[in-house]
Amino acid sequence: SNDYRVVVFGAGGVGKSSLVLRFVKGTFRESYIPTIEDTYRQVISSNKTICTLQITDTTGSHQFPAMQRLSISKGHAFILVYSVSSRQSLEELKPIWQTIREIKGTDLPNIPVMLAGNKCDESPEIREVSAAEGQVQAQEWGVSFMETSAKTNHNVTQLFQELLNMEKNR
Ligand code: GDP
Ligand code: MG
Repeated sequence: SNDYRVVVFGAGGVGKSSLVLRFVKGTFRESYIPTIEDTYRQVISSNKTICTLQITDTTGSHQFPAMQRLSISKGHAFILVYSVSSRQSLEELKPIWQTIREIKGTDLPNIPVMLAGNKCDESPEIREVSAAEGQVQAQEWGVSFMETSAKTNHNVTQLFQELLNMEKNR
């Protein structure tokens, strides 16, 4: 099948569900509704190929370890989300990244991964992670980086589209 499985990881409250809902449904909500685990499908075209993205919105760091490992094993591509207003949320991605490395092993260079600094619309006074710091982290891991906002719809389509572009370019 043409299904392409994308898994979204990140701490609770960083905006994983908001990014997915913005991309799939074009909506945004101000309230915080904790996720169990949801899967969405979105048809996306790039050049002449049409592909169905199967997007798994995880519960974040509180996901059961066995479920996290299963999502990683089945995933073709990953989006690692933190909030630019929480340094802690960037820290919380580190063990997830270690697990991805461990499970994907030598295949990892062929796997599209995006690091997303979400909530870039937030005012500078409450920002804790600069774009430059996000970029440095991404370089260290050898992944791509973008700042996003589910609220203003900044870089949301690009975030998902870029995963497919990385796939085609290898
Ligand atoms: P999740 O736990 O990672 O799935 O986070 P949610 O998507 O449920 O979002 C948590 C909270 O952050 C909600 O109140 C959202 O409205 C808010 N939020 C999500 N994305 C953004 C964003 O890009 N900018 C701002 N300002 N708030 C956001
Ligand atoms: Mg959620």
